[in-house]
Order: sequence, then structure tokens, then C-alpha cells
Amino acid sequence: MSDATAKKEERRKFQAIRGTRDLLPPETELWNRVEQTAHEVFATFGYGEIRLPTFEQTELFSRAVGGETDIVSKEMYSFFDNPDISELEETRDVVRELGPTVNTQAEQESFLFYLSQFISKVEQRLAAGELILSSTALSDLSALKNTFQELQVLPDSADAHTNDKRKLLTVEILVALDLLKFGERVSLRPEATASVCRAYIEHNMQQLPQPVKLYAMGPMFRRERPQKGRYRQFYQIDAEVLETVRPDAAKDAAKELAKDAVIDAEVIEMLMTFFDKVGLQGATLFINSIGHNADNCRRGYVAKLKSALEKVKDKLGADSQRRIDTNPLRVLDSKLESEQAIIATLPHIADHLCDDCKAHYAAVKRQLELRGVLYQENWRLVRGLDYYMRTTFEITAPGLGSQNAVCGGGRYDGLVELLGGPPTKGIGFAIGEDRLILALQESGKGQAQQGRDVYIAWMGERAYAAAIRAAKDLRNAGFSVELPPVEQKFGKALGQADKLGARYALILGDNEVSEALWTLKILSTGEQQKSVSS
Ligand code: ATP
Ligand code: MG
Repeated sequence: MSDATAKKEERRKFQAIRGTRDLLPPETELWNRVEQTAHEVFATFGYGEIRLPTFEQTELFSRAVGGETDIVSKEMYSFFDNPDISELEETRDVVRELGPTVNTQAEQESFLFYLSQFISKVEQRLAAGELILSSTALSDLSALKNTFQELQVLPDSADAHTNDKRKLLTVEILVALDLLKFGERVSLRPEATASVCRAYIEHNMQQLPQPVKLYAMGPMFRRERPQKGRYRQFYQIDAEVLETVRPDAAKDAAKELAKDAVIDAEVIEMLMTFFDKVGLQGATLFINSIGHNADNCRRGYVAKLKSALEKVKDKLGADSQRRIDTNPLRVLDSKLESEQAIIATLPHIADHLCDDCKAHYAAVKRQLELRGVLYQENWRLVRGLDYYMRTTFEITAPGLGSQNAVCGGGRYDGLVELLGGPPTKGIGFAIGEDRLILALQESGKGQAQQGRDVYIAWMGERAYAAAIRAAKDLRNAGFSVELPPVEQKFGKALGQADKLGARYALILGDNEVSEALWTLKILSTGEQQKSVSS
């Protein structure tokens, strides 16, 4: 590399990765205000904050969110988390090198020796908990061990049959060695519900007073096409209510359903209270019930929907045509203009709910009315994640273009059980914080307070000492203070104060110090006032 190229490389300008962005002041003040409001409002409803890891085992998300969903099938950031296995890799390399050249008895023995070394090292580290193997890797390891044993018991004879068998087993071993992957597949979280459920199980929260009410906030990651309101790292504010089913709950099914409806309505009431408190205008709440997974409910409806879709298949776009087989409900989500008239003729799920789901949905609406929460029903609101059942809801806000959903949520009874926990009911929502902030800014509610309270204009050594004391006192009293590090003429200092949007300038010159006076200038009016310094 020439010196010139090296210099150029050195000065390379880095940029944030596409779909990620820096949140800068003063906008971050608005983010803090929104988050602070969430802490306060959620606390008044008895929720506690849970802070979750940013990455988890990939399998947690593929199980919870669903392998067929867009999120899991194409949007997750996943990687292999490798432990420090250099010693194992060295032994593995020796076996790999020996394998293809085994001919003599001695070479065979040395191949088997290093292979057994490799296997026992892996097993030791597994036993010591220094190595984690995915379930696939564990079965790859046991396949390797079986082939190894087969090779070991092979007679020494050099007849053609035994030789062929030996060669075959050696090749099998080399392939198995290549396949064996250490470490585990992990993903940056694309959403929070799966992690909350995992934590609920891991910390035995079913032993806490039920229901358990939790909220979380932080970044989520999805590899989507970046556009306004859609990023690859975005932020969610998430709340979940989990309740392990009592063994005797089935005895009083009607009562349980009514209780669930109250919980659903209260979750939505909290959400709308939060939106109200942050000053979001024009938010619209859409609700629906997507029933539960049974023949006399959603499964029956999906079958009817599917056959209705088959009849109009030719008139649908490619995406919807594909979804007829993979996930017919998602066709209802379509925003394609040409499909809208056709979708309007499809059967509605409300006409196919079982009696329980019907009763639950009616109770949710009643409970919302009781709480003065306005809603609109939207029979096409199905949500894209696998785990939802019964109540689904979404909130849209104006000013966001086509990315106008600021929150999505729903009930997910059964998810905790699917992840290995006890039978548990759940409901929750996720607010898209980026979009909420955009909506607040669009409606003029996003003005962050800029600037400082006080700019200290000082000149002279003694004045500087007084300025430091003044800054300390003012900051202790909670004012934001700018104390310039170098002396400047008062005219320049006042200009600087203006630029920073300061409300007051505190003027300290040697005159002021010797007279023990402070001159305070109100920058918006130019009014000036002297007072005795303490
Ligand atoms: P959309 O239909 O807009 O893609 P979604 O159904 O995928 O949303 P959820 O998984 O329900 O979204 O997430 C809840 C909320 O998180 C959304 O309503 C939205 O406000 C926000 N959100 C989702 N994906 C993104 C993203 N890539 N960038 C910014 N916000 C997002
Ligand atoms: Mg999406």
C-alpha cells in the first residue's frame, strides 16, 4: 500500500450503519420526557420495570414469534456466538489432516488417538460447563462418537471389505467433524414479549402475586427496508401482564373470561392514558378479536377464508396469492389498492367466533366503554405474529405517512407454556417510540426546551473564582449553567449566550466582585438588574 493510500484509509469517514441513527440533543430531551412519562403512568397502574438482555438464543424468537413470520424468516440479526475453543480447534485440525492419509496400521492408530483426544476434550469442557452446544450440535457429537466406536471395533485385517469399510467410516468422521459447531446461535431481539416470557419462567414469577405486570423499554432490531418511521434499530416501550392459570380455573370459565376482558381493557386504558399524557393528538385505537385456535373458532374461519380466497385468487397480487397457503389471515393486512375491493367481500371473523371468544370480545368492548376509552372495530386487524389470540389492537397516529401504527398489541395465552413454562395467560403491547416521537414533532408537541438557564460572562481572575462559585451554587439549585472556559469580552460573551438560547446572563467583572454585586441580564428583554452577591 502506498503512503498516500494508507493516509486516505486512515482518514476514512465512518457513518452510522443504514437503518440506524444517532439521536441527538435537543431531540433526546423529548425521548427522555416520553420515557419518563411511561415510567410514571405505568407505575400508577402497578407495573414494575424489567430490563432485558439485547440478545437471546435465536430459538426463543423462532418459537415465540413463529418461524414463518417475516420477522424470523428474514429480519433477524443472528450470529454464532463462539466460545474460546482454540485448543479444541487445534486437535480437530490434527484429526482433519491425518484423516485423508491413513494407510498403515500406525497411521490408523494415531488418527484414532487424536480423535479420541478431541472427543474427550469436548466432553470435559461440556461437563465443566465451559462449552454450550445447541441441540443440533449435541446430536452431531453423538453421531461422531458412534462412528468413532464403529471404527475402533473394526478388525485389523487388511481384506478389501474391511478396508473399504474403514475408508467409509473415516470419511464419515471427517464430515461429522466439519459439521460440529461449537457455541450457539443468538439473535439481536426483534421484540420484547418473548424475552419477558422467558424471564417470567426463568425467575419463577408464577410464585409472585398474580397477575405480574411488567414493562420494558429499549432498542429492537429488524433488517427491514429503512424509510420514514422504519429503522433497523428502533425503540419500543413494551408492557406485559402475565398470569399463571390456577388449577381450578376451568371450573369457572365464564368468570375467568370476564376477568381476562377486564385485564385487556385496563391494559388499553393505561396505554391511552400514556398517549394522552405525552400529548399525542389524533390517536385512533382499533380493536378486533381473532378468536382462539380451535375448529369451532379461528381454524374454522381460516378454512372458510381460504376457500373464499381461492375463488378470487386470480385477482390478487403475488404476495397475497402466496399467503393463501402460508398464512391466509395475513391477506387481510394487505395495503395493495387493487386488492381492497376484493378483501371487502371476504368473510368476517366476528361471524365465526366460538361462544367463549364472542363473550370475551363483547366484555372487552363493554369494559372499554366503562373506562371512557374510545375505539373503532377493525375486522381486518390480525397482526403479524403467531402468538396472538382473542384481543388484538393497534393505535395509529396522524402525520406518519404509511408507517402510521404507533403501537400494536394483543392477548397471547399459551405463549409461556410454549416456551416451557406453566399454563399462563398474557396480554401486552409494544409502542414504537421512534414513530411516537415523530408524531409528537409533527403535531408541534415535540418542541424540546433548548439552551441553558444561565450563561456566566466573566472577565478577570477574581471574577473567574467568583464565577466558579456561582456556577456551583446555581447547578446545585438545579439550573443549567454554561461557564465559558476562557475569558471573553462582555459583548462577545452575550452574543454567545444568545446563540446558546440562554435565558439569563450573569455578568461578573472585577467591578462586580469588588462591590460584591451580581449583574443579571434577562436576555429576552435586555433588562438588567444588580443584586448583592451572597
Ligand atoms: P408495521 O406493520 O408497521 O411493520 P409491526 O406490526 O411489524 O409494524 P410490531 O411488531 O407490532 O410492529 O411492533 C410494535 C410497534 O413497533 C409498531 O406499531 C411500530 O410503531 C414499531 N415498529 C415496528 N417495526 C419498526 C421499525 N422497523 N422501525 C420503527 N418502528 C417500528
Ligand atoms: Mg413490521
